[in-house]
This record gives sequence, C-alpha cells and structure tokens, in this order.
Amino acid sequence: METTHLKTVDPISQKLLLSASKRGIELSWERFEQAQPQDGFLRLGLSCPFGCMDGPCRIDPFGRGPGKGICGLGKDEMVAGMLLRLCLQGTLEALDTVLSFDAIPDVQFSAELNQITAPILSKNGQYDLSANDIFRSSAMLHRPSCSFKRLLSQSFRLSLLTLGFLEKNAEQSLSGPVNVSAGYGSLADHSVYIGICGNPSTSFLEAIELECKQNSGLPASLVSLGEWLVMNKMYIPVACTSGEAELLLGSGAIHLLVAGQGTDPGLVDVCRQMGVPVITEEELPEPADVVLQAQNYFATLSQSMLPDDIPAVHEDQVVMSSEQFNKVAGKGNREKLALVGGTDTPQQSLGQLPVEIASSLSDQGFQVASWGDAALWMIKDSKMNQKKEGAPLILEPGQGPLLTIKALAVAEQLDRLQGICFTGLKSCKDFTAALGLAYLGGRVCVATPAPLHGSQDVCRVLAEMVEHNHGQFIHFDHSPQPQEILEWLTSF
Ligand code: SF4
Repeated sequence: METTHLKTVDPISQKLLLSASKRGIELSWERFEQAQPQDGFLRLGLSCPFGCMDGPCRIDPFGRGPGKGICGLGKDEMVAGMLLRLCLQGTLEALDTVLSFDAIPDVQFSAELNQITAPILSKNGQYDLSANDIFRSSAMLHRPSCSFKRLLSQSFRLSLLTLGFLEKNAEQSLSGPVNVSAGYGSLADHSVYIGICGNPSTSFLEAIELECKQNSGLPASLVSLGEWLVMNKMYIPVACTSGEAELLLGSGAIHLLVAGQGTDPGLVDVCRQMGVPVITEEELPEPADVVLQAQNYFATLSQSMLPDDIPAVHEDQVVMSSEQFNKVAGKGNREKLALVGGTDTPQQSLGQLPVEIASSLSDQGFQVASWGDAALWMIKDSKMNQKKEGAPLILEPGQGPLLTIKALAVAEQLDRLQGICFTGLKSCKDFTAALGLAYLGGRVCVATPAPLHGSQDVCRVLAEMVEHNHGQFIHFDHSPQPQEILEWLTSF
C-alpha cells in the first residue's frame, strides 16, 4: 500500500486506503489491479461489435493472427462498428433520462442548439435528425454491410441526437444558482449518515429526509456519495467523489446505503464486508425503518476511521444556472475559457488530472469551468490548499459543456472556448456527448482511452470529419499524463 499517493491525491483518502488495507477490505483498486491486463482487442476496437452469432471474432493488430472476421469483416469496419455501438448505447442512456416526459420524445433542439446544429447538418449534406436514427443504427449493427465512413457518419448523427436528449433533460434544471457543499467535511459532526448512490427518486429521498428531521432518536442526515442530487431546491451535501465512495463506505462513517438505480455492485459488496445496511427503493421501505436501521448500525460502532481533522466544507460553492452562465458568457467578456470536467476512473490517480490541469490553466490566466467529479476535486483542492484565487465556475453536472457551448454560440463568443477536456468518462452517454461537442466545432479531448486505435484509417477519417466543422476530437490509446493534455489545451 506504499502506492496510496498514486491512487488518490487526497491525503484523507490516502489514510482511509491504508486503514482499509489493514482491515482487509477489498476496494476497486485491488479489483482493477487483478483485472490487468484488460482485453487488448476490445481496447483497440478489434473485437467484433456486430450482433452476429457466428463469432466471436477478433482481428490481430500485429498481423500474426486473423486479419478479418469469419464473414470477411475488415478492421476498419470493425473499429467503426465499435464506435457506432458505443454511440448507440450512449444515445439510449440519454434517451432514458427523458423517457418520463414522453414515450419517445421529439428531437426538437432549442433555438440556441438549433442555431449550431442546423448549419452543421446542412454543411455535411445530412437530413434532419429523428428518433428513427436509433433504429437505423441498430439495423446497421445487425450484420456488417456498410462502409466504415457510413458507420462513422451515423455515429456522429447519434452524437448530436444524444446532445438533444441531454438538453431536453436539462429542462428540469434549477432555475437559479444553488449552493453545494462538498468533501469529507460534510461528515464533521460524526453523527448518523445515510449515504446515497445512484439515482433514487426525489420523492423517496424527501420522505427519508423528513423522517430524519422529525425523528426523536440520534440525529441523522443524508449525504451523497459522488452524485449531484437536488432535493428541496438544494444539492444534497456531497461527502466524496464517485471514485471515493467505496473508500468512505469502508471507513464506517456511513451508516446505511440507499442504493439507487446505477449503484455499482462493488459499493454493495463493501457494505456487506462492513455490515452496513443497504436498502433500495424497490423494497418500499418505510422511512422510519430506514432511519432506525442507520441509527442501530451507528450504535454498534466504536468509531469511524475518518480522522478528526477533516477540513470544513465549502458552503459557498455556487452551481451556475443557465441564466447565470449566460451573463458570464456575455459579450463584454474576452477571457479564455477552458472546460475541465468528468468522472473519476480507475485508470487515473483520483483527482490528479482535474487538480493539476485546473491549477496550471488558472496560473496561466484561463478561466476554468468544471462539472462532475472533476468539479468536486477542484472544490476539495481549493479547501485543502486554502486557495482564494482562480476558483472554477461550477456547472450543472448533466449539461456542463453543452450549456457552455450554447451560451458562447449565442453570444458569438465561441472563439473564447480554449478547449473541453473530459478528465474521465464513466458512461457511453458521456463519450457520445463528447463526440457530439467536437462535431459541433468544439476542441474536445477525452482522457479515457477510446477503442479506436485498431484502425489508423478510422482515426484519420474521424479527425477529418470533425475538422471539417472546425472541431477537434483528441483521444488516446493510453491513460494520458496531465502534461499531455495541458500541452494540447494551451497549444493555440
Ligand atoms: S459479423 Fe463477422 S466478424 Fe463479426 S462476429 Fe459475425 S462473422 Fe465474426
């Protein structure tokens, strides 16, 4: 465990890692190490993504094994098919966020987004987007029959569709700026904490919070473990980033886990190892019983592993509404803006990319805006190092970079956007959105390796199609160092 500093930049997380190791608690870092080396064919996009039962087929990138699939599929189409499959999954994830509004929603962009997408579609000779693109993409993935350029072109259409669904989801965003508090300091009272992962319904959380307020037993409260969850027009305090959630559960500082949809199995497993009660909404638990279970678990503990000297939280971090951001992006402002956001990933030391990149950009005079885990790391870093200058703008997690591009486009300020860096991607939805932002003309970099490097032609044509719209899509076949991204971000 002498490598704790390589796993996370937070000193408290490093202490918790040591403590978990001594107690034999298995965490994601151990599983990540055991999973190495991961499938190199999949990593390069050379494992067939088509819905065919004749396989599985893989293509050897070094020419020592098969050079084609059984049906004759070549590596260019295999890699481009992999991209389309990722984008189809990303689009379906984005669609899922808006399905509660309509059965299959219309793809109707706002006036601002339409102002950007319409010329792009027209310039590329493409017809209007519709939900039919989802079914068409699925049909293209039944068996290989299209050229790789056609597969790439369809991937871009899905990436724009994904942005449209994300924008529609943002209709339920907050109307005004809202504060968020973040960091282990959310647990400074060492009282009963009910941790939340995934996305349980707001009504379910409100019922538990009401019970916490009215309950006459030990004081209890809700904290989020890496999710940005709004309740009663406030963000629930975020005790840790998503990558630290297992660590925090393993510390004994959380006394019950509400496992919403999307909760990783590893989190439930740590709870099992620790004896922490886990509940799901589907079990229809009574709020009083939820709070009682948390209080009972708290009463069995001698102490949590969380140190006493945790820094207090930043209470005054404002998450900007669209309206507020539009003012920042107003015509008078010429400051260069760099977007650095995204989720924790096991491939990177937690917090390293966002903290180092944001600090360096800020020192060089750029305004930095952030969202997701990356924003939490910047908030934590400013507290740990008592920074007063260069605080990042915090954007709504669901639409951070899209919000920015729209605001800058309307203000005719897109040239102020230095670049968009996704420091980590957890879902296909984020990957597809990143591709869409590049296709709209943004300079976009994704730090999570993309499974595209099995075909140089696919990488080249993909870059050309983005550059045709004055965008850039930078991706790696390895986990990049902060300096690699900084050189790109500041290179023009
Ligand atoms: S589509 Fe072709 S390459 Fe893919 S699994 Fe089927 S036979 Fe193999």
